[in-house]
Amino acid sequence: MANHVFGRGAGPLPTAARGDGCYIIDANGRTYLDGSGGAAVSCLGHSDESVRAAVHRQLDQIAFAHTGFFTSDAAEALADKLIAHAPDGIDRVYLLSGGSEAVEAAIKLARQYTLEIGQPQRHKLIARRQSYHGNTLGALAAGGNAWRREKYAPLLIETHHIDPCFEYHFRHDGESLEDYGRRAAQALEDEILRLGPDSVLAFMAEPVVGATAGAVPSEGAYFKHVREICDRYGVLLILDEVMCGMGRTGSLFACEQDGIAPDIVTIAKGLGAGYASIGAMLCSATIYDAITQGSGSFQHGHTYHGHPLAAAAGHAVLERIVDDGLLAQVQDRGDTLVHALRSRFGQHPHVGDIRGRGLFRAIELVEDRTTKSSFDPNRKLHAKVKKAAMAEGLICYPAGGTVDGRLGDHVLLAPPFIITEDQIEELTDKLSRALDTAMA
Ligand code: PMP
Repeated sequence: MANHVFGRGAGPLPTAARGDGCYIIDANGRTYLDGSGGAAVSCLGHSDESVRAAVHRQLDQIAFAHTGFFTSDAAEALADKLIAHAPDGIDRVYLLSGGSEAVEAAIKLARQYTLEIGQPQRHKLIARRQSYHGNTLGALAAGGNAWRREKYAPLLIETHHIDPCFEYHFRHDGESLEDYGRRAAQALEDEILRLGPDSVLAFMAEPVVGATAGAVPSEGAYFKHVREICDRYGVLLILDEVMCGMGRTGSLFACEQDGIAPDIVTIAKGLGAGYASIGAMLCSATIYDAITQGSGSFQHGHTYHGHPLAAAAGHAVLERIVDDGLLAQVQDRGDTLVHALRSRFGQHPHVGDIRGRGLFRAIELVEDRTTKSSFDPNRKLHAKVKKAAMAEGLICYPAGGTVDGRLGDHVLLAPPFIITEDQIEELTDKLSRALDTAMA
């Protein structure tokens, strides 16, 4: 078949032909265990009956009605259900087509809010160096990866990136997680003071850092300190849960486990679970009211915003997650996965750390377990692990090398919530062989 798809430049790829539970079968009949849900997307596996039925039902009713003219039962039902389970104070939902769109909308909403409350000088964004917030120009500015940004500079939003990230704690023997959490939050306050508190719009962070650092949760009371600091200086707190949200860490929103609520939160990936291209930006009543009582409406919109088919899929996914006991299952299988990783790789000479929450886990690859030194980035170990895992019939999500402010390779694992104990065993077997091949 002629290949006219403009891809990412990853070379010839197998053609995905069929999905079956936790497996993808390619056009040549090879089977791959989906150990990362693609990139933490396919939380229900690849053949979920109830999501497929919901999409078919919606398709039989109506596929599309422009949101400039109509709302839909599917969009309203999804928004209601999201708000019923959202963190305290979160009251409105803006539906989009994916994660980057949700982050763009979050930044624009925050900007408009500061105008509505008479603080237009607040335009600077603070984010963390170990972060990924999307690939569109505003979201790209927010993310911490210098190599992703450099070809497209100057970007649209003035962003200031801070360290540290909890990933580094495992290299800091002796400092308690409590102290480390306080110190990490202090970096935010220092930056706000350096920039001038009245000029700062928002702090954006992933509660559990995904792609760039590998399932890194915060520890201690980091986010409680962050929340207090944001409140002290009138800075909005935007949490990006595009990767870690939707039950991936064992609670519907990852920030529930940090005991805080944001002003704005973004979700995507697991919301569509691979069955639809959907994302959402959720905001507090305070922000929504300031806008509706101010200039009247959010100056934003996309043609496919609130798409009924996508919303029907999202609603069915959410029902599966919150009504079918999948959050408890994530916690349970997450424990099984971390035990399996510890027993398989706990003494591995090149595994320095095993971390994460729920079914969002990673192993950190190190040259030397004692010094915790990273591999030479020129070795591109993560790319070799990905290739070797595919050859074993395993999809996992390795990353690393030289990401700004960070050196090291990790393998991210985010399997579907329906993964069985036997499949967890299969995953660790295949990963172990892939590591051996990649490091040989
Ligand atoms: N934010 C985070 C935390 C992400 O992990 C991603 C995707 N990896 C995005 C935003 C962008 O989402 P999308 O690829 O759907 O645009």
